[in-house]
Amino acid sequence: MDLLDTLTAKGLRRELPTREEALAVLATTDDELLDVVAAAGKVRRQWFGRRVKLNYLVNLKSGLCPEDCSYCSQRLGSKAEILKYTWLKPEQAAEAAAAGLAGGAKRVCLVASGRGPTDRDIDRVADTIAAIKDANEQVEVCACLGLLSDNQAERLKAAGADAYNHNLNTSEATYGDITTTHTYADRVDTVQKAHGAGLSACSGLIAGMGESDEDLVDVVFALRDLGSDSVPVNFLIPFEGTPLAQEWNLSPQRCLRILAMVRFVCPDIEVRIAGGREVHLRSLQPLGLEIANSIFLGDYLTSEGQAGQADLDMIKDAGFTVEGADERTLPRHRADAVAGGCGGASASPCGTEAHACGTGGCGPCGGHAEPAEAAAEVKDLIEAESSDEARTDLVRVRRRGAGTELAPNA
Ligand code: SF4
Repeated sequence: MDLLDTLTAKGLRRELPTREEALAVLATTDDELLDVVAAAGKVRRQWFGRRVKLNYLVNLKSGLCPEDCSYCSQRLGSKAEILKYTWLKPEQAAEAAAAGLAGGAKRVCLVASGRGPTDRDIDRVADTIAAIKDANEQVEVCACLGLLSDNQAERLKAAGADAYNHNLNTSEATYGDITTTHTYADRVDTVQKAHGAGLSACSGLIAGMGESDEDLVDVVFALRDLGSDSVPVNFLIPFEGTPLAQEWNLSPQRCLRILAMVRFVCPDIEVRIAGGREVHLRSLQPLGLEIANSIFLGDYLTSEGQAGQADLDMIKDAGFTVEGADERTLPRHRADAVAGGCGGASASPCGTEAHACGTGGCGPCGGHAEPAEAAAEVKDLIEAESSDEARTDLVRVRRRGAGTELAPNA
């Protein structure tokens, strides 16, 4: 139990694990899984109690993107039969947002497909933020519009945006394998622009694209170093009609290990279970709440989630509470750092679905292997174990809410 005791102690002190320790979490066995969840849960409860923050996605502009992100159903050349529409009017977006807020969400995430916004697009989003905040002053608004040009982050901040999402998605080493039309450095630059403008940085990853454990650890350490305040963990939804349609690499257990690793590396940072929750965690979703402190309510950008009421029931049944608009998400030391413009990483007190939005080297007794050994010895076993059957039956293209005549799911 040395590994988990060490990681728990470090998490309670906001101290970074080593890369070897993070890798060892990914290499634990199914026999150890509940111990891993319990250890990550102690860290989660230390910094976030039993609160679950609900976020609500509004897809302002869907499909027809000129970029080629291979995981994305909205990409150039995608044959996925998703909804395609151009910019929602501010009042349409506000109506969709209102449904999510009525369902208990405290953050609205305004997402638009595309390489990045034009200055005219920033005007549209500013009008949309105003329409949403006119009706609900307390709501947090996060924009997710792609790569930002100079001064656009400042304009969004002035328009009332609280946060900006731009995911790193995977490690720098493998970024070129999933996208060729922009670079990892472009993504880092946008997160830094957002941060520099005083927006809370939301940046996460996608697991299940064929990456190695080392890639996962690399991207999570990079997100921490970048000063991300919230880390969405997406589990790839292999959409038919995209290049990664055959990449069914995740099991529910693997997803929990990934979430736990993220929690140990980011103990006091919002860890959000994002796209793919229903498809990959399936009946183990409530265990995910023991580790992550944030989820999306209802549907995703181009796919449908479980009913909003089912999300709320799950939270209640698992003994958690929905975080209220008057409750602080981040622990005070981090919230103060954000307010003061300090997004620094590391373990110091300032420490830190795409475009937006699962056998340790131990014996039968279930004891934990030494981190480095475990990572090396069980890699093949983990790869075999983590392969999952293709649950295409669980992938449902979104046909309701924004861009349709049907009511949103919230
Ligand atoms: S992730 Fe964003 S930039 Fe990439 S293809 Fe999808 S919508 Fe376009």
